[in-house]
Amino acid sequence: MSLAMNSTPYALRPQLAHLTAALDDLRARGTHFRLRILDDQQGPVCHYDGREVINLASNNYLGLCNHPKLREAAIAATQKYGVGSGAVRTIAGTMRIHMELEEKIAAFKNVEACVVFQSGFAANAGTVSSILGKEDFILSDELNHASIIDGARLSKAKIRVFRHKDVAHAEELLKELQHEPGHKLLITDGVFSMDGDIGPVGALADLAEKYGAIMMVDDAHASGVLGRNGRGSVDHFGAHGKVDIQVGTLSKAIGALGGYVCGSRDLIDYLYHRARPFLFSTSHPPSVAATCIAAFDILENEPERIARLWANTNYFKQQLGDSGFDIGGHSTPASETPITPILIGDGRRTMDFSRALFDQGLMATGIGFPTVPEGKARIRTIMTSEHTRPQIDRALEIITSTARASGIL
Ligand SMILES: *Cc1c(COP(=O)(O)O)cnc(C)c1O
Repeated sequence: MSLAMNSTPYALRPQLAHLTAALDDLRARGTHFRLRILDDQQGPVCHYDGREVINLASNNYLGLCNHPKLREAAIAATQKYGVGSGAVRTIAGTMRIHMELEEKIAAFKNVEACVVFQSGFAANAGTVSSILGKEDFILSDELNHASIIDGARLSKAKIRVFRHKDVAHAEELLKELQHEPGHKLLITDGVFSMDGDIGPVGALADLAEKYGAIMMVDDAHASGVLGRNGRGSVDHFGAHGKVDIQVGTLSKAIGALGGYVCGSRDLIDYLYHRARPFLFSTSHPPSVAATCIAAFDILENEPERIARLWANTNYFKQQLGDSGFDIGGHSTPASETPITPILIGDGRRTMDFSRALFDQGLMATGIGFPTVPEGKARIRTIMTSEHTRPQIDRALEIITSTARASGIL
């Protein structure tokens, strides 16, 4: 029977009419979007929706999404171990290659132990929700990632939000809670994903020590980008031994998929027993673990990739700033990493600008409410090690000429 004959006339069913109304509202505001479809592989130049574009939208910082050694590792592991793990980790789905990856990451980060989750989102949400209870407190930067916020809500802990990167405000909140019996978790992103600024990990870790709080860092955008060989923000700040819980992702610079938590052996053993995504969701296919193992070899052996990433970043930022764009530092934090926002403000104008850039051959995503605050919509650009100088220059040309044509510059 054909699908068409079988399908329900959804539009006529009233149960979901409120969703259609919400979408109509987005359309009226000019912030409704369609998914852009990648026709080939993630790269500095690639095809979306059939059009060749310079790509400033991916998190493929080091070009590892399609590195030959990672491909080979994935294929070899698939040949040897198959395509799936067949169970959650705690039942029958812990393969030797999963353990190898965790040992590799723990050694790389110079910590006792590591556990890998299916994604960075699962790592954050699963960890925060399992280590805190309703008597406890979480002190969280106002711009922390959604997965931290969801984990905090699931934990039922009391949530206290400190102003962005405001260490003094975090201390005020800790002081107020000094005589409360609950545990306190102080948490920040290592790199903030929408502004590209770096969290004050060292200063917050000192604060956590002073007040006896647990210190946790989400290094999703710092993994492979900050610190020696991309070891992350703790390494960047020389805060080794002061951060109890380090989360990283395998989905961005590492090029594959997953998230990990690094810390003490007991922290990891506790997560084995209590973190719900670990207990109730199937582990990675062996190809993913093998890919990630190969990626950490690259971080150790090809540091020139990270050097190129930073050289490209510095050049691009300098040129954009010189052209007169608001790239943060006024109404929003100043970027210090390969993530460079171009602040526009209005949501509709931002989405229109992003579409105009695409039509000129540049992929740079418009980001509006609720991902960023109302009135702070922006084009987010991300530089990679693989962009060539001519590609970067061409991207700058497109951004500048399109901005002039649409009255943004
Ligand atoms: C992307 C991101 C995550 C989630 O990581 P995934 O591996 O993509 O699930 C968590 N935290 C921050 C800050 C991120 O930017």
